[in-house]
Amino acid sequence: MKDDVARHALDPCAGSRPLMTVEAAIAHALCLAAAVGEVETVPLDNAIGRVLAQDVTAPFPLPPFDNSAMDGYALRSVDLVGDGPWCLKVVARVAAGEDAAKVAPLNPGQAVRIFTGAPIPSGADAVVMQEKVRRDGDSLILTSPVACGDCIRRAGEDAARGAVLLPAGTLIGAREIGAIASVGLPQIAVRRRINVALICTGSELRQPGEALGPGQIYNSNRFMMVAALRQPWIRMTDLGAVADDPDRLREALVQASRKADLIVTTGGVSVGEEDHMTAQLRRAGGHVEVMKIAMKPGKPLTVGRLGRAVFLGLPGNPVAAFTTWKIIGQRIAARLSGQRDTVRPGVQAEVTETFSRRPGRQEYRPARVVGASGGGSPRIELLDRSFSAKISLICQSDGLAVIPAAAEQVTAGARLEFIPL
Ligand code: AMP
Ligand code: MG
Repeated sequence: MKDDVARHALDPCAGSRPLMTVEAAIAHALCLAAAVGEVETVPLDNAIGRVLAQDVTAPFPLPPFDNSAMDGYALRSVDLVGDGPWCLKVVARVAAGEDAAKVAPLNPGQAVRIFTGAPIPSGADAVVMQEKVRRDGDSLILTSPVACGDCIRRAGEDAARGAVLLPAGTLIGAREIGAIASVGLPQIAVRRRINVALICTGSELRQPGEALGPGQIYNSNRFMMVAALRQPWIRMTDLGAVADDPDRLREALVQASRKADLIVTTGGVSVGEEDHMTAQLRRAGGHVEVMKIAMKPGKPLTVGRLGRAVFLGLPGNPVAAFTTWKIIGQRIAARLSGQRDTVRPGVQAEVTETFSRRPGRQEYRPARVVGASGGGSPRIELLDRSFSAKISLICQSDGLAVIPAAAEQVTAGARLEFIPL
């Protein structure tokens, strides 16, 4: 943590405790998130967006039999010796779904009309595309040679018997459904959905549709987070908005912890007198494991535990809540659900303008793509530096540019990681 201490020294807002790097915060938070163990079986039609509980292996080779990759003619490549053209006799026909055993093994000089996906008849060792030959009655005239194995999809070339097609922990999408169906499974074992409880805090919050009184704003986080949590692998319970009242907040936390694997809250994690979250988490019997992160926005993001639930306290500013959910929260939820950690690095993008900044926190700055560099990577324009309360900015942006904590100046043309939104 030497590095943290050095970064802390650069951040005048750090208080008495060193800030934790984003990487350390993520690593620590992920350690808290043990995958739910329960497994259920779902029909393949309902498996989209669920998390595979076991490896899917091929119980037989894929494809199961040698078959034609083209519409054309199956032949014996040894028949095409010497100089062409060659003439073969078409003696039979096999289409997809037919049994190749109905065709007698090919004799020298014979060919079989064949279609894509049809099994290769015995004796044939190559297929020639119909576009490359001329047909005259029963005669097939070829002018160029065909090599053994041409246009044949071999049994097992996609997956050998016993090969792992999909590892446990895969989030099932359309292509995974296709793979599962290809091995003949009508249903599949998935992890149970994780239970996520959502609590938004703030005495100033009103529901869209209600009239705003003085000092009041609409509860954007609630709708944003409900939308973010609407995933097939999540069962979400919305516990509504709770005023900045310590007792009511604690009651909501306790209620949430009864069923939830993950409690997501927004607001109340800063250090103001109306920020009661961590105190009430502790009073409810929970504890904090990660706080004060060298992240902008997101310094107040807090991760801890309450009973058997992981606690994730997102900051109240909607952009900060959105960003911290995207960068850290989502990974905690995914880990709880049993997903393999599949975070891919963002793309490298070139900044358009030189700017200086106060070092100390890793910044996730909304940015807009304005073109492409000579090398083909996106060129990005960074948006307003004070952005964490501006929902309009995040909506105008194409992604988040990641400015390293130590950077004091970023020069035009420099490359930053860019996380598309
Ligand atoms: P807090 O983290 O509670 O101090 O909130 C920080 C800022 O975010 C304050 O300006 C709040 O009014 C605002 N805020 C908190 N929660 C929400 C919410 N659910 N929707 C919109 N803004 C919020
Ligand atoms: Mg608040």
